[in-house]
This record gives sequence, C-alpha cells and structure tokens, in this order.
Amino acid sequence: MKAILTDITKCIGCTQCVSACKVINKLPPDKPREWQKNDGLSARNWTSVLFKDEYYVRKQCRHCIEPACAAACPVGALHKTDFGAVIYDSNKCLGCRYCMMACPYGIPRYDWDSAVPYVRKCIMCYENINNGVIDQPACTKACPTGATIFGEREDLLIEARKRIKNEPDKYLDTIYGEKEAGGTNVLYLTSKDCPLDFLFYYNNRIEKGVKLLGEPAFNQPYPPLTKKAMNSVPFAFVGMGAVMSGLYWIVKRRQKLEKENKGAEDGKNQ
Ligand code: SF4
Ligand code: SF4
Ligand code: SF4
Repeated sequence: MKAILTDITKCIGCTQCVSACKVINKLPPDKPREWQKNDGLSARNWTSVLFKDEYYVRKQCRHCIEPACAAACPVGALHKTDFGAVIYDSNKCLGCRYCMMACPYGIPRYDWDSAVPYVRKCIMCYENINNGVIDQPACTKACPTGATIFGEREDLLIEARKRIKNEPDKYLDTIYGEKEAGGTNVLYLTSKDCPLDFLFYYNNRIEKGVKLLGEPAFNQPYPPLTKKAMNSVPFAFVGMGAVMSGLYWIVKRRQKLEKENKGAEDGKNQ
C-alpha cells in the first residue's frame, strides 16, 4: 500500500504542497467562513500547513487503514482502496455528513459554496496516479526539501525508523500513524521539541466542545466505535426499506440538480 511520510523537522513552511494540491485538483480560491475550523482545511483546501512550537506541520487526510468515515457512510460513498487512498464517490453521497462526525482527525469538509454541496478531502491523488497522469501526489512532488515523501508504506516505515536511529537526539521516538487509530497511510516524524499532541489528532473538536463518536482510543481502529455510535442514531431503527427509498430519492435529486446546474453553466458559457 502506498503512503506519505511527512517529516516535520524538514518542513520550511513554504506551502508549495498546498498550492500544488489546488492546481492538480482544480480547487477554486478558498472563502474563509466564521464557522470554519481554524486549521486551514476546507472543501477547497485539502491540505494545509500549521505552525506549532516553532515547527510547520502539514495537515491532510490520514488515509486510515480502517477508515471511520467509510464505516459511518450509509451509502458507501467513501471507501478504502488497495492502493492505500480513501476515496470518495460524489454520485453516491447523500450529503448527510456522518463521515464528518465520524473522522477522528476532523478532516472531511462540506462544500457550502456549491449549489449541490458535497464532502471534500484529500484523495491521495488516487485517480491521477491510477490514470498515469502523475507518478506521485502533486504535494509530495512539489516539496522542495523532501519534508513530505511518497512510497510504499513499509518502505516509509523503514525510512522513518532509520532517521530516528541515526539522529536519536533530534527525533521523537514515535512514528505517528504507525498504530494510531489502527494505523494510517499518512505517517509523521517529528522533533523532540514538537510532540504532536492529542489535539493535533483530534483537531479542535475538544476545544469547541464537539462530541466525538466513541471514546478516543489510540492504537485501535475506529470503525467498531463508529458502528456502536451509529446504532444509537434513530435512523438505524426505522424500517430499512423506507430509509433506502428515501436515500435513493435524495441521491437522484442531487444528481438531477447537479445536471441542471451544469446545463445552466454550459448555456451561460455559449
Ligand atoms: S483521516 Fe478521517 S477522512 Fe481521512 S480516512 Fe481517516 S477517517 Fe476518513
Ligand atoms: S495527495 Fe493529492 S489530494 Fe492529497 S493533499 Fe496531496 S496533492 Fe492534495
Ligand atoms: S512543500 Fe514541503 S517544505 Fe514546503 S510547506 Fe509543504 S511540506 Fe513544508
């Protein structure tokens, strides 16, 4: 499985990774919103660079090995690929935002500016790599210092262990993402001066008082917790036939709206 290793000690905060992501994914300029979490991520910014304890920390979807977002999605719009990326099918998405509640890292964002809003997040450049357009994510390719690199997860773990062994005074003896939340396909190395604490993982949900689904559990996959929490949603107790008909109607309506919007835009451009 492919993965990304970000070494915080090498990042200079140039944000070239952020720009490259916007270009390859054709993401429009961001519109700051009052209610947005203050971490730079949005439906139009799939990666960001945070400043913490004198270090720059790049943030993006961790591509969990057992993704809670996919487990929470009632229609399978998110799924984990063999490649390693957790990808998203907007044709299936209902816009219910359960994935946003389920993600332990607070990653997926809603595209409030679109007429037919969808959830958005980093997809590890899955389609572009799969179609041979690029051979690695645009963000890792753009990084001028090698602070964020792409490769096989096993190779990146070996590389990370080597760096810790060679410079034990510099690095914290932890590879973030090796085991947290059941393991992720985005790994982090950090300096002893900059431990990536709990809030880095859980975003600012705790500060904002947003309740997590299940208790935070290091080194444990999240889907079982998500499933438990989702079972308490009334939806699970309503007749499944009726619910599925409703979901089908919503998806079809979203697709119809999208088609109409596209037609109107094409008409304007002619
Ligand atoms: S970090 Fe969140 S959005 Fe990304 S794969 Fe994991 S659960 Fe899903
Ligand atoms: S992997 Fe691709 S989609 Fe994800 S942050 Fe990098 S450039 Fe953006
Ligand atoms: S491109 Fe590399 S050095 Fe620049 S901000 Fe991104 S990770 Fe850091």
